[in-house]
Amino acid sequence: MVSVHRIFDGRRLLALLSLLLAAGFFATTLGSYFVSKNVIRQAIIGQELPLTSSNIYVELQKDLVQPVVISSTMAHDTFLRDWVLQGERNVDEMNRYLQEIKMRYGAFSSFFVSERSANYYTGSGVLKKVSASEPRDAWYYRVRELKDAYEINVDLDLANKDAMTIFINYRVFDFAGQYLGATGIGLTIDAMHRRIKDYQQRYQRSIYFVDTKGQVVLGGQKNLQQQPDLHARPGLRDIIDGILRDKNGGYQYEADGVTYLLNVHYIPELNWYLFVEKDESEALVEVRKTLYINLAICLFVTLVVVMLMNVSLTRYQRRIEQMASTDKLTGMLNRQAFTILMDKVLAEYERQARPVSMLLLDLDHFKHVNDQHGHATGDRALCHVAAQLQQGLRKSDIAVRWGGEEFLVVLNNCGLEEAQLIAEKIRQRIAEGKLEVDGHALALTVSIGVSQFSGAEPTEQTISRADAGLYLAKQGGRNQVAVAPAPSSSSSAA
Ligand code: GH3
Ligand code: MG
Ligand code: MG
Repeated sequence: MVSVHRIFDGRRLLALLSLLLAAGFFATTLGSYFVSKNVIRQAIIGQELPLTSSNIYVELQKDLVQPVVISSTMAHDTFLRDWVLQGERNVDEMNRYLQEIKMRYGAFSSFFVSERSANYYTGSGVLKKVSASEPRDAWYYRVRELKDAYEINVDLDLANKDAMTIFINYRVFDFAGQYLGATGIGLTIDAMHRRIKDYQQRYQRSIYFVDTKGQVVLGGQKNLQQQPDLHARPGLRDIIDGILRDKNGGYQYEADGVTYLLNVHYIPELNWYLFVEKDESEALVEVRKTLYINLAICLFVTLVVVMLMNVSLTRYQRRIEQMASTDKLTGMLNRQAFTILMDKVLAEYERQARPVSMLLLDLDHFKHVNDQHGHATGDRALCHVAAQLQQGLRKSDIAVRWGGEEFLVVLNNCGLEEAQLIAEKIRQRIAEGKLEVDGHALALTVSIGVSQFSGAEPTEQTISRADAGLYLAKQGGRNQVAVAPAPSSSSSAA
């Protein structure tokens, strides 16, 4: 016997809900990702890199303070000045002095250049005579004209195989204010290299020094392996001149698909720029990981919600449809369900014209049952007959509680003669299937009217013919099957 399912299709609602849910989830997840990404980027450019840069600058200054103090002490040392004023006689004494300074303070080199003799003294004797025509001695003539007491200069050290060295060049005057020459110490750049390596490890970013021409002069391993001229580096080549002009600032550039965040700080003491740089993707690894996890969670939650929704919607829908389509007492389909199912039968008939017949059943003298045994027994009798009726039907047949004690059956793919046979079988079964009431067997009988759908008539008309048959069966004495004669105008489809 046919039942009504899926009158209302929840799939579209479900699809819409899952779409909304997924869209909402993705929008918030992606939104928060871009917000965090921006916040992190701003924090790196605005705070992290400048902070690292100033930290390094402060430490660098600290590193340079002691050498400046030492050089100042040398420049004001009475021994040095007296020795020069007395005619630079015993070179050994100067050697010992410069050696002592170098040893005591762990300097890379120590020197004194005399204005009067042009001698360049180091811890191991006279290195050379400085000359204004020698380009490599230019530094001395620059210091001689200096307005400040000293300068910090990065240069190649003649006394140490031209090693890159930071020199503190201090001007020396006698007690009367007469210029005597330049003295000071040199610091090896190796120490700076170690410092940079240490900074890079500590701060997890790339650190290098750039001179005024845009050449990397000092940096970590990675940076020195690259092209030293920043004008030739992808991403930087277009902005480097602006950076050198600005002296200080925060920048962002792309190279090989990687975004770099950069902070630049000019260091006047060295006439160098300090570059502190960070690969943005490294900083965003965690945020990106969170994004993927969040997206996976969203997907999972969406799937679970959709699944749960589908299950409960289907169940709920079935319940509602069942409630709306079945008769409470007998569990049979009601008239509303009949209307829906009959539409389907007619549509099917349009597609393929197979005979359709109808049976209209009515319990005989049912009023007596109610009167003699009470309404409750009457109800039981109705259920009993309904069960007997349904037993005799096929899956494709539609059985409906039509009214109080009337039932309508639509027999699909069944002609009038076969319908009469089926009706007769049903009648017999009901007549034989006794209902036990108060220890007695109660006999119930039905009268059945049979009709066949003409193929071109409203359903009501087919039912009306079955009703006419039923009337005949009642007239004929009840407990029988009858067919009303077909109206002469209608034609049979069977
Ligand atoms: P007939 O053979 O001519 O059909 O006689 P009848 O007594 O069955 O006559 P009728 O069809 O007029 O009476 C139907 C009765 O069925 C009247 C009504 O009280 C009873 N009935 C209708 N619905 C229900 C129901 O749901 N439960 C019970 N117990 N009785 C019902
Ligand atoms: Mg009746
Ligand atoms: Mg009746």
